[in-house]
Amino acid sequence: MIQPGRHSLNRIAVIGRGTAGSLAAASVTHQLADGEYELHHIYDSRIPVIGVGEGSWPSLVQELAQLTNLPHEKIQRQIKGTRKYGVAFEGWGQRNRKFIHYFTPQQVSYAYHLAADLLAELLHESANATHIDAKVLNIAKVDGSARIDFEGRESESYDLVFDARGFPKELTSEQNINISFIPTNTAVIRRCPASMQTEDGLVLQHTYTRAVARPHGWVFVIPLTAHTSYGYIFNREVSDLEAVEADFDKLLETDEVPEFEQRAVIQFPNFVHRQLFDGVVARIGNAAAFMEPLEATAIVSAQLQIGMVLHIRLNRALEHIDRDATVVNRFLVNTILRYGLFVGWHYSCGSTYKSEFWDFARKHVWPKHRTVADPKQVDCNALTKFDEMLNLLKSPVIDKADWHKMCAVPLTSYAQISQGLGC
Ligand SMILES: Cc1cc2nc3c(=O)[nH]c(=O)nc-3n(C[C@H](O)[C@H](O)[C@H](O)COP(=O)(O)OP(=O)(O)OC[C@H]3O[C@@H](n4cnc5c(N)ncnc54)[C@H](O)[C@@H]3O)c2cc1C
Repeated sequence: MIQPGRHSLNRIAVIGRGTAGSLAAASVTHQLADGEYELHHIYDSRIPVIGVGEGSWPSLVQELAQLTNLPHEKIQRQIKGTRKYGVAFEGWGQRNRKFIHYFTPQQVSYAYHLAADLLAELLHESANATHIDAKVLNIAKVDGSARIDFEGRESESYDLVFDARGFPKELTSEQNINISFIPTNTAVIRRCPASMQTEDGLVLQHTYTRAVARPHGWVFVIPLTAHTSYGYIFNREVSDLEAVEADFDKLLETDEVPEFEQRAVIQFPNFVHRQLFDGVVARIGNAAAFMEPLEATAIVSAQLQIGMVLHIRLNRALEHIDRDATVVNRFLVNTILRYGLFVGWHYSCGSTYKSEFWDFARKHVWPKHRTVADPKQVDCNALTKFDEMLNLLKSPVIDKADWHKMCAVPLTSYAQISQGLGC
């Protein structure tokens, strides 16, 4: 196949060895397999990876098989994974009942619950790169290429750079859209004994990420074969850590979890960078965007970012790059904002708890979505498309031609959440 952009991709750098950087390095290796090129995988071993991110979307199952050339069963064992068929909501919305948000087609399509460190290891085995352990000080676009400045090492120039350095140190409103209609900003992570194990390490039964509403927010429960991961997601300005930990203890008691290892307290921003791709430098993973993990939207966003950037750089001649980059950038920002609206909407009907947090989430935070995602402010139509999905759900008959509509996620996802929440 002729790829007009291929000759302009000879030196590529990926910065960061977390999930996003590891996916990028394996993707470059896979896409450029039949040509000559140089790939530098750069990371600072003194800066740890975030190490959480254990839920995914079904596209990862196919992608890992392609990137690793391994059978699905082997991959699942290697990442100590289980098959995730959706998210099981407990205590959300007005109906006081449990419901499941299934991937479509229901009970057929599955994703992985995975151990984040083992996923990165698996991807490293599939990447053909020179490793550089050094701190990156700056990335600058210079005459159609990117110069990386290092600490204690000569600068280098590349045709394409994936910047996967994790959460930005500061977030300015000129550079970022603050997804402030999502009400949470902190997670307490606990690791509990595994409940899913088999002798050969392959769990075939259907599993779900539990999303359990609690007075201070909600708790995810992710079953792996190595352990079960619990995370309490809350807002540190509304609830104090002590109260959250006490409620966490109560939930573990109800779940009859005998012991746990306290892993981390992680503060996170909900944001998307306004410039994810300028033609030469692509921000990916948590460096590009993040929103709380209710619908596990981070890895799938990184897959999309990497896929789009490589596709455009390989298949379009370099002379079009400035115009193409604008289009790619708008598409990616638009998709992430759509994910944001979908996630934020989960809070719009409250939960079984009448608490300060749920009042804050439903009455004060979610209503901001119309101003934050106003098309004039964000230069994309995410809000218009989101409104269209909600209007379709309200119509007495949904025309067959509309069944396959999407706004980041399919109409079936909107329908399931709407039914489940009771709004
Ligand atoms: C509580 C919580 C739960 C989550 N759950 C999910 C989930 O279920 N599903 C999901 O998809 N996602 C989830 N995520 C998101 C998850 O964090 C990301 O999917 C994923 O781990 C991406 O991380 P990253 O690779 O972008 O960055 P990181 O893991 O932070 O890696 C950053 C890398 O950059 C390197 N680095 C940093 N600065 C420099 C520098 N100056 N020079 C050189 N190297 C540098 C570091 O050494 C490191 O290797 C969750 C996040 C949180 C906070």
